[in-house]
Amino acid sequence: MPLANYHIHINGIVQGVGFRPFIYNLAVKKGLKGWVRNSASGVDIEISGSFEEIDDFIQEINQSAPPLAQIDSIDSEKIENTAFADFKIITSKNKATDFIPVSPDVATCSQCRSELFDPQDRRFRYPFINCTNCGPRFTIIRDIPYDRPKTTMSGFKMCADCQVEYENPLDRRFHAQPVACPACGPQIWFEDSPGNVIAEKEEAIQTARRMLKEGNILAIKGLGGFHLACDATNPEAVAKLRKRKRRPSKPFALMAFDLDTVKKYVATSKASEKLLESPQAPIVLLPKKQDAGIAENVAPGQSKLGFMLPYTPLHLLLLEPADDFPPSLVMTSGNFSEEPIIRENQAARDRLKEIADGFLLHDRPIHMRIDDSVFTIINEKPYPIRRARGFAPNPLRVSQNLPQVLAVGPQMKNTFCLTRDKYAFLSHYIGEMENWETYQDFQKAVQHYQSLFRIDPRAIGYDLHPDYLTTKYALEKIQSENLPGYPIQHHHAHLAAGMIENGIDPHEKAAGLIFDGTGYGSDGAIWGGEVLIGNCLEFERIFHMKYVPLPGGDLAILKPARMALSTLWAYGLDWAEDLAPVKYLSEKEKKTLKNQLEKQVNTPQTSSMGRLFDLVASLLDLRHVVTYEAQAAIELESLADFVEVGYYPWEIDNIDINVKSTIQSIISDIRNAVDKPIVAARFHNTIAQMGLDLSKRVRQKTGINQIVLSGGIWQNHFLLTKTISLLEQNGFKALVHEHTPPNDGCVAFGQALITSYRYIREVE
Ligand code: ZN
Ligand code: ZN
Ligand code: FE
Repeated sequence: MPLANYHIHINGIVQGVGFRPFIYNLAVKKGLKGWVRNSASGVDIEISGSFEEIDDFIQEINQSAPPLAQIDSIDSEKIENTAFADFKIITSKNKATDFIPVSPDVATCSQCRSELFDPQDRRFRYPFINCTNCGPRFTIIRDIPYDRPKTTMSGFKMCADCQVEYENPLDRRFHAQPVACPACGPQIWFEDSPGNVIAEKEEAIQTARRMLKEGNILAIKGLGGFHLACDATNPEAVAKLRKRKRRPSKPFALMAFDLDTVKKYVATSKASEKLLESPQAPIVLLPKKQDAGIAENVAPGQSKLGFMLPYTPLHLLLLEPADDFPPSLVMTSGNFSEEPIIRENQAARDRLKEIADGFLLHDRPIHMRIDDSVFTIINEKPYPIRRARGFAPNPLRVSQNLPQVLAVGPQMKNTFCLTRDKYAFLSHYIGEMENWETYQDFQKAVQHYQSLFRIDPRAIGYDLHPDYLTTKYALEKIQSENLPGYPIQHHHAHLAAGMIENGIDPHEKAAGLIFDGTGYGSDGAIWGGEVLIGNCLEFERIFHMKYVPLPGGDLAILKPARMALSTLWAYGLDWAEDLAPVKYLSEKEKKTLKNQLEKQVNTPQTSSMGRLFDLVASLLDLRHVVTYEAQAAIELESLADFVEVGYYPWEIDNIDINVKSTIQSIISDIRNAVDKPIVAARFHNTIAQMGLDLSKRVRQKTGINQIVLSGGIWQNHFLLTKTISLLEQNGFKALVHEHTPPNDGCVAFGQALITSYRYIREVE
């Protein structure tokens, strides 16, 4: 067989995931000679063999690549012959403009886990055990190339034993940058709240466990930041945490040692089990089993609990099962409500001392803070709610090359997005862009992503809202760097995100049922119940919820009772004495409200779908004031009893979705003492049927058959599954989010796409 030399280039997530050792082993096994090295966005191989041998070699790369690798493409070409003596891993070669994907952080793999609990292993019970297949990545990388000196491991000099493993291509720890052991790596210790070190190493774990068992609250330094932890089966401990953290009712996330434990508390399925045990190890929201032992105040008013499995060796040691140790811990982000998660030891001591009774600390710095990701399961598929640890900074892949642009994202649930080539680098969840801390964090993260992925934005996309901090940031950058800027309507961005992640061509038109909380409209009103058609360039508003006043702006969002009365007023319905919101608000408040509505003082118009859910929750006397976003809607869904109960009427007047008859029917059901869970279910059915009705009208007008379901309302499990099935039964294609959240976590992605295509249209 004639031998020839081939050059093979592999694109994708193939660095920092054990790819070169895999290639090395494969080549040696097959007796092939040549070399492999990291290169621009991938791996280069030169290898000598017959055509059949090379073909077979490439097939095997595809079939048995390491678990964390993600191959986008493999290209090979014949090159000039050179003689190779053996197969080698050689040093990387990069051009200044190349970029190399950075791996997200990866949950402890099964091999490291076995070693952790193996008394014979030299890393027995070492809280920082990791290998090429697992461990910290994005959170410890200060700069590229991804080599130890550029990570927060730079201060730890490898011992001789670790060095041998690191340099041996046949070892699982070959070139694992965070490799460490008890002799040379990071260490843990325990401090009491005044800051005295009271235990170290194994004793620190045991001290932490004892304190948790006794009902204390601990601040625990993890992978992407601090958690606040307490015994999830102890209502007093949970109540204490709520009080100190100033978080009255927003649900807390939970962690349990293994899947079997999780199954005691929530109903799982194949898909959710797979997701819980995945290398990304997100929090998964799952139906709660009644009276299974988790304290009620962990997630008041909710039918679901959010569980995750331990994703670092430290968490595994902390949660190791024992007869007298709590089977599940609350693990909520270490911060005060709505502030960024704390990542530094000193900041934790300063800021969290009022909350925590003790601190479990370590000395491996966290460079990038990152929150836990949150998912739920819809129709046996993962459905993102918050995309962060384990996912970012993996880019989303698109079908066409994009110019380099920056989209700064929305105000709430902020993420930003940078594009280049066929990639959209959607950032991890940054948070609520209302406080200075978050804004600082945002700016730092934008810089970090730009330098990691070597992106120099040629255009900037931002929200239409003039007062958003992100808008201000964008406008300053547009001016100082003299770049083209594109203001983008919030719900258009939702539509574009939903289309593109479902593989729709950016120039093709799709329709969107964009059911959301808040977004600044092109007419200055607050939109949120929109039927749009459009593509990645333009959109048209086909239908929307009829405008009602939002008295006091954000105040109305915090007080569903105000929203209820405002909506009744707008529809010409009485503030009858027997209605729950009328009873709830004081005479004085009602008088002021009426005055405000009549004189139109600070009463912006809104078409928000979120506010309609608020109104129904208030009419049902379920919730008149909220303490976290979407609380009323979530509790309304939890209350509903989804048996076949029919639905309420509505009208479409021209382009207005008029819900007067819906509200009247709800009030009449309440007056007839219909069970609240039935009313709640009928209301959900109504929105699903309304979605179908609107889609049919769109199809009749335009022939469009593809319906994007985007916006925060689509986090509602029942509403989403019901709408999908109605649409599908009627011949529509429902385009549901899969890689980005339906809430504002997807907006930056949509902005980036619209910015890219507008820029291409204008410039090229
Ligand atoms: Zn491992
Ligand atoms: Zn070592
Ligand atoms: Fe939104």
